Amino acid sequence: MSFNLEGHVALVSGASRGIGRAIALRLASEGVRVGVNYNTGASQAREVVEQIASGGGEALALQADVSDKVQVETLVKKILDRWQRIDILVNNAGIRRDRLLMRMTEDEWDSVISVNLKSAYLCARAVLPHMVRQRRGRIINMSSVVGLSGNPGQANYSASKAGLIGLTKTIAREVATRNITANALAPGYIITAMVEELSEELKGQVLARIPMGRLGTPEDIAGIAAFLCSDEASYITGQVIGIDGGLAI
Ligand code: NAP
Repeated sequence: MSFNLEGHVALVSGASRGIGRAIALRLASEGVRVGVNYNTGASQAREVVEQIASGGGEALALQADVSDKVQVETLVKKILDRWQRIDILVNNAGIRRDRLLMRMTEDEWDSVISVNLKSAYLCARAVLPHMVRQRRGRIINMSSVVGLSGNPGQANYSASKAGLIGLTKTIAREVATRNITANALAPGYIITAMVEELSEELKGQVLARIPMGRLGTPEDIAGIAAFLCSDEASYITGQVIGIDGGLAI
């Protein structure tokens, strides 16, 4: 399915690999000009930009740690300087620092909350005035199935992903009259570096719990993100959309 997003401008955080990369490529294939944010993966982000350019699209690789206020402001300014508008924000950047709560360090807690949750607040705050002026906007926050269910060893990660749901619903309520939607995606287990790191034993246990019997792909997520950015989804806001092969049933 194809959505007409010609001429729109997006910022996708953490788009150098995994789910963010797939979303950047999919949006670009729909005619969106994409700010490909990364933190450390400069060469991977460059490859994403080159892939978009080779398909006739337009993209910019933009380094920024999205948990840092000043870096986020500079990031958004670079997009506006280049394209003079911003229509879509995908808050996708995320990290894991798993440990049972009893042993979790303050740094493990703070870093995950900052990168996964504070970043979404900073990016949304930076782009919203422009979306309000344009009278159109789409914000997509990358939550997770564990933001709904919790998960042993992931107190920090689950809390950040649950926090994103509250943030999403609040943004949705605050700007609904401005034709801006905010939705959260709650992927299950998607084949990316983040999941490849899990032990074979854990992957086997996860697979056994997925009714569809397979892990998800980044493209499974990217298609839904593109749909949410389209006019067809203009009446969907404040929702948490599970993309998990039935894991959360
Ligand atoms: P991934 O392969 O580990 O990629 C993470 C991305 O986030 C990378 O592009 C990384 O950039 C970027 N990033 C990390 N810290 C950053 C920072 N401080 N500033 C800017 N970018 C930063 O992860 P993924 O599996 O694609 O996950 C993407 C999102 O989906 C995450 O929010 C994750 O929690 C969520 N999610 C994933 C799954 C899954 O099964 N994979 C399930 C549910 C939810 P650099 O490499 O350049 O540093």
